Amino acid sequence: MSHLIEINGLKKTFPVYGKTGKIFSQKEYMCAVDNLSFYIEEGETYGLVGESGCGKSTTGRAIVGLTKADGGSILYKGKDLCKLNDKQFRPLRKEIQMVFQNALSALNPRRRIGDILGEILEIHGMKDADERREQVIETLKKVGLSEEHYFRFPHELSGGQVQRLGIASALIIGPRLIVCDEPVSALDVSIQAQILNMLIELQKELRISMLFISHDIGVIRFISDRIGVMYLGTLTEEASTETLFANPLHPYTKMLFDAVPDPYITNREFHALTGEQPVRTQAFQGCAFYNRCPYASDRCKIETPEFKEVESGHKVACHMVS
Ligand code: SF4
Ligand code: MG
Repeated sequence: MSHLIEINGLKKTFPVYGKTGKIFSQKEYMCAVDNLSFYIEEGETYGLVGESGCGKSTTGRAIVGLTKADGGSILYKGKDLCKLNDKQFRPLRKEIQMVFQNALSALNPRRRIGDILGEILEIHGMKDADERREQVIETLKKVGLSEEHYFRFPHELSGGQVQRLGIASALIIGPRLIVCDEPVSALDVSIQAQILNMLIELQKELRISMLFISHDIGVIRFISDRIGVMYLGTLTEEASTETLFANPLHPYTKMLFDAVPDPYITNREFHALTGEQPVRTQAFQGCAFYNRCPYASDRCKIETPEFKEVESGHKVACHMVS
């Protein structure tokens, strides 16, 4: 397997404002993503897991070109996506697609499903209306919808069907990589399982790669080949799914696993997550997890731990782990 996409030292900052104006001096920015590096192989599902606000979605949006990164690189087919302008990025849109948590909000409510999907094909150069119709119906079937949905409106679908439609609109132009940002988080557990199984099947059939973003460690475990645990804009641990669950090393990963109330998933006692992520400013130093870590020492406060490989394919950023 070779790397389909490689993210190196990615950085994205936002200016920070409070309710009564700026809470920091004018030069303060919050780092949503800081020095983030990982790669995704051909045909692989890489799961990005972490609490809300850790920078997962910003990372996904940077990869699909919806957010411009401030630093670092995203290498795809020898091109750095961060350096492309909109026009240069356009041909790659076809290859890198996104599925959102709420697909309905991204769909035009006044248009029929067949027209919505057909328009995507038209924008990407499919001129023949019959050909488009055929392709739309084929895609609807792929995601478990049917020809009968062609003339329906998005609001006539159930929550699960809407997400299937969101997946159809990402798949219809034949991408190489899909970024799924919490695509099942708003659904009932039984529907979640159906959609996840469908994604796994489709991925095998179409040989696409996936970046799967979720706060739900159970979902991430189910779907991912490798997992990156993200905290405060950067990775704290990365390993194959099997290794991460057999041997979690970072205190944050352990805390995440302990917060899952399902003994079949973790075999551990349940402890709710405590503490909050601080704001990561540009002047940030030390370990990102310092204020919540039960093992924190003085060194952790001033010295940022290196994200290093501790065994083959298993990386950890913690002074305590070597
Ligand atoms: Fe905890 Fe220190 Fe390790 Fe950070 S570096 S996770 S504060 S022990
Ligand atoms: Mg998010």
